[in-house]
Amino acid sequence: MTSLVVRHHFVNEASLREGWNVGGQACGRLFGLVRVAIVGGGIGGLAAAVALRQNGLEAHVYEQAPQLKEVGAGVALHPNGVRMLRRLGLGDEVQNLGARWLDPQFHRFDGSLIAPWWPPAEADRIEIYGMHRADLLQMLLDRIPTDSVHPNHRCVAFSQSTHEALLTFEDGSTVTADAVVGADGIHSTLQRYVTPPSHPIPSGSVAYRGLIPSASVAWKDGRMRNYLGPGKHFLVFPVRANTLLNYVGFVQSGELTRESWSAPGDPDALRREFAGWDPTVEAILQQVESCFWWGLYDREPLTTWTAGRLTLLGDAAHPMLPHVGQGANQAIEDAVALATILARADASSVPAALQTYERVRRPHAARVQGSSRTNGARYDFSEPDLARRDAQLSNQSRDRAWMWDYDAEAEARAAFAASGHAE
Ligand SMILES: Cc1cc2nc3c(=O)[nH]c(=O)nc-3n(C[C@H](O)[C@H](O)[C@H](O)COP(=O)(O)OP(=O)(O)OC[C@H]3O[C@@H](n4cnc5c(N)ncnc54)[C@H](O)[C@@H]3O)c2cc1C
Repeated sequence: MTSLVVRHHFVNEASLREGWNVGGQACGRLFGLVRVAIVGGGIGGLAAAVALRQNGLEAHVYEQAPQLKEVGAGVALHPNGVRMLRRLGLGDEVQNLGARWLDPQFHRFDGSLIAPWWPPAEADRIEIYGMHRADLLQMLLDRIPTDSVHPNHRCVAFSQSTHEALLTFEDGSTVTADAVVGADGIHSTLQRYVTPPSHPIPSGSVAYRGLIPSASVAWKDGRMRNYLGPGKHFLVFPVRANTLLNYVGFVQSGELTRESWSAPGDPDALRREFAGWDPTVEAILQQVESCFWWGLYDREPLTTWTAGRLTLLGDAAHPMLPHVGQGANQAIEDAVALATILARADASSVPAALQTYERVRRPHAARVQGSSRTNGARYDFSEPDLARRDAQLSNQSRDRAWMWDYDAEAEARAAFAASGHAE
């Protein structure tokens, strides 16, 4: 096989706007501009590319798959993620393509109400949107020039000198950059260049999920429900402007599966798991023709995310259980924080800038990881003291305020200022 050497050129938008008609790596070197290579074209990698571009940096995304795509399922964008997407200029897309939660409620498996997620007075303030994962990916992709996205690029190796980093891809091509972002998901290739891989810890649960037409069960716009029973729970909310209904059934299982996004699930097995639950749940499951299925794993927080010019972002940095719906939201926060800090760096100060990024993001993401674990146990609780559990669920806006009110961009600015650099 012929070895192909690709030298991608990084041109800062601002430099072009200001008429510096120079391209390629000489541009970066000449003016001290930071060249960023992102490995992984999932929600985290693309959000990073959008945020970096918005901050005047040019970033290239290298994705192993022949095309960028997401599974047919939903994702909830919580207030902290929505805030960052608005800063990225994507507020209209979220509103138009998403489906805002209007009256989220916890119910027992028999349908009786446990509690609304928040008091009525909070309803206008708290913005959560269900989105089709493909819509979220596409709206990010639409903000990135086609020639900055490189499918069919499976990264197989990383190395660095004091001055720059080098990525090697499966086809033998290479790319140099000042900063490399490992946004390559839970089975990250780049993680091992930063820290020994953390081991997956099976949660003992598997999740089935998929989409059905909302009209098939006459689902009301914006209705979100979380039904809790011993050892399992069932989550449902609309996406794609309320036209589709996203469901996730979490059940305990002794089977150890690989952490996977796309294993086909058995709809009949799913129906059996929730037989006898509230008729609303059974009616939804009657509509299911196909679904995805995968094991849920947890990992201990990493002790470091950064080595020189390489840092991690999204699931590569902080894989978490989905029980506070934060994996993608945290990846989006990472993206904005990273861009906010790198925009204030030059090529020589990248390693220090990445340390600042890690300092601001790692403790917060670790706290969210822990909270995901606690919440999963709470949802699937089967102890006698259910009244206490139910009381704990009665005010999500109070209990999740530290997460929902978090402003990743402001935190990043503050961390940069605290690092001793002038704004
Ligand atoms: C059941 C369930 C429900 C969830 N619900 C929510 C929710 O409601 N809200 C929320 O915020 N989060 C949720 N999450 C979590 C969220 O989906 C993930 O945290 C998020 O998608 C991670 O994005 P990422 O870009 O970091 O990683 P990924 O989406 O895994 O993307 C990584 C990309 O890197 C590519 N890649 C991997 N290796 C290489 C390589 N060597 N070279 C090049 N490319 C490579 C992959 O092909 C992939 O495209 C949920 C998760 C589960 C399991």
